[in-house]
Amino acid sequence: MDDVKSFRKRHRIHIYGTDIPNPFSSFDDLGSKYNFQPYICKNLKNSAYEKPTPIQMQAIPIMIHGRDLMAMAPTGSGKTLAYIIPMLHDLKGPEKIGYRALIISPTRELAQQIYREFKKMAVGKKFKVCMLTKATAATQAQTPHLREKFDILISTPLRLVHAIQQDIIELKNVRHLILDEADKLLELGFLEQTDEIFAACSNVKLQKALFSATFPSSVETLANDFMKDPIRVVIGLKNA
Ligand code: ADP
Ligand code: MG
Repeated sequence: MDDVKSFRKRHRIHIYGTDIPNPFSSFDDLGSKYNFQPYICKNLKNSAYEKPTPIQMQAIPIMIHGRDLMAMAPTGSGKTLAYIIPMLHDLKGPEKIGYRALIISPTRELAQQIYREFKKMAVGKKFKVCMLTKATAATQAQTPHLREKFDILISTPLRLVHAIQQDIIELKNVRHLILDEADKLLELGFLEQTDEIFAACSNVKLQKALFSATFPSSVETLANDFMKDPIRVVIGLKNA
């Protein structure tokens, strides 16, 4: 226990909440301790990531324990992989029952980056990832059966709400909801879109996580309103 405490201190991992899973220290642990499928470990090796960043060390075990999470870590600290890796692990493989994971990103550029990172980490598994755009929304509208083949959806909030309103997207099987750059999402008016999005994600086993570089009170309020017993992880300065 003391070990874990000093480990967190050394990596400037601050935690708040109950029953918080221990952090892990090496990507090798994912295979040996957490039974991750070999393809994930292989893709990590191939990407030349030597060891997890602090946010990955603490957020990944929390996510695989199925807990709601609000994570704050500086820009460039590897937040994307902190949710992609546990998500791929939990989804196991493609299922053809429609979207089981949804990532909301404030901008299209960021959504594209997330998409690329997913593709890189999913090599060896036939997951289907959709980035919602005007064009992909149009194909899904014309061929509703198409969307059943997909596992993971990445979208900006406006595009998503539009698709929900037009009834061309099905989110009832979504088990993982990620709000990336939550601070930016809120700045861009995300609160007006939450009702529709959360209503569409009707699965009772929905796990929610939000990632942010800063933690203004609006992010805190959002988390308190829509999460269940969340764990908070803050990397860096304690009162940043
Ligand atoms: P953030 O979302 O926190 O701003 P990103 O997820 O965009 O950060 O990651 C920033 C960069 O760090 C990316 O180029 C990513 O590929 C790289 N990266 C992620 N995890 C690691 C790691 N464990 N080791 C080295 N580089 C990493
Ligand atoms: Mg990011």
